[in-house]
Amino acid sequence: SDSHFPVPVSPHHVEYTIHYPHFFPSSDSPPDSKKIEFADIGCGFGGLLISLATLFPETLMIGMELRDKVTEYVKERILALRVANPGQYQNVSVVRTNSMKYIPNYFEKSQLSKMFFLFPDPHFKEKNHRRRVISPFLLDEYAYAIRAGGVIYTITDVEELGDWMKSCLENHPMFVALTEEELEADPVVKLLSSATEEGQKVSRNGGQTFKAVFRRIIPSV
Ligand code: SAM
Repeated sequence: SDSHFPVPVSPHHVEYTIHYPHFFPSSDSPPDSKKIEFADIGCGFGGLLISLATLFPETLMIGMELRDKVTEYVKERILALRVANPGQYQNVSVVRTNSMKYIPNYFEKSQLSKMFFLFPDPHFKEKNHRRRVISPFLLDEYAYAIRAGGVIYTITDVEELGDWMKSCLENHPMFVALTEEELEADPVVKLLSSATEEGQKVSRNGGQTFKAVFRRIIPSV
């Protein structure tokens, strides 16, 4: 249950020195000099983050994962990569948490430039739709954490869930779909399938995937 993992009381209490010692060598490091910008929600075994870490070496990123053993695996994976590749993978970390409850404890308003929801659990039954990580209610929270112009990436191999995520995003006033040209131009879009463990499994089995990639709008005042 939730009592087994610590939760920071506010984004100010996230332990940057523990997650990113290279960027924050001591707890005296200026706390606001750099903040996490990418969040991979339900990161699983961390494949996407590992690819993003070298593609955006100066951007701090974090995976949020509910399963204890999976989180420990990702931690070990990152530590091993840091040892094998001095100076690299210092910008990536993982935390065990329930993202459906604790996003506001980790990120301030407009802190994130990218959020990822890749191959989330489908929760097929109608009564379980409230457990889905994309919902009208949770999108309000994500719209708060993502800055204007930031992007939310979703992908699934379950068509019904793909339709659900897309329609939640389409119906939300703070998000607008990326155009075909924008999707083509974004190098991250290709990684949604190719870099995730789940995406690799789907493509080995010749399965179809359904993406919804939306931008947090810049509100006109
Ligand atoms: N994104 C990864 C990928 O594409 O390979 C993993 C996909 S896996 C099917 C879904 C992951 O979401 C699981 O590892 C699960 O433990 C995690 N998860 C489910 N609910 C969660 C929650 N409320 N908070 C954090 N992680 C969650």
